[in-house]
Amino acid sequence: IDPAVYVRNTIRSVPDWPKPGVTFRDITPVLQDPRSFRVLIDLFVYRYMRHRLDLVAGVDARGFILGSVLAYELNLGFVPVRKKGKLPFRTVAEEYSLEYGNASVEMHTDSVRPGQRVLLIDDLIATGGTMLAASKLLQRLGANVIEAAAIIDLPYLGGSAAMKETGLDIYTVCS
Ligand code: 5GP
Repeated sequence: IDPAVYVRNTIRSVPDWPKPGVTFRDITPVLQDPRSFRVLIDLFVYRYMRHRLDLVAGVDARGFILGSVLAYELNLGFVPVRKKGKLPFRTVAEEYSLEYGNASVEMHTDSVRPGQRVLLIDDLIATGGTMLAASKLLQRLGANVIEAAAIIDLPYLGGSAAMKETGLDIYTVCS
């Protein structure tokens, strides 16, 4: 079986969560199943082992799980892109809009050095707002964002298309 199909078959769709009409893609079964977790991480490892990356940046919170394992396997450092108010040192923030209201992501000002080749990773691209904000933040710190990776793309929400329009390269395992 195709590894991407194996991963996709392990993802659980939960109807009406977090609210009626929304189907949430739950990746916890992927992490729980050792074979699916390994297949998933290996897909990323084989893709990025030749990208000469300097750093992996993972988005709060599921991007931490994927990004830290991937960084370890690729012998790279990991930096967190956190939700507002969690980081203790000097920070920079980037705001983005949600369906209702705003949110922001934050990073430490010294988490990336100018010119570093960074992979951005999260579990899922919906509207793309989170990843775009994270990518802008990384670029403000001088990073060269090589690609934005996720397990799942929800293409009908237009997020990945909007991200590509900004010139960002994207890789997702399934949609
Ligand atoms: P976006 O900013 O692209 O609209 O939403 C993506 C962010 O929301 C990601 O950080 C992702 O973890 C979370 N998210 C939104 N919908 C889902 C979903 O159905 N499943 C999972 N696992 N995460 C989601």
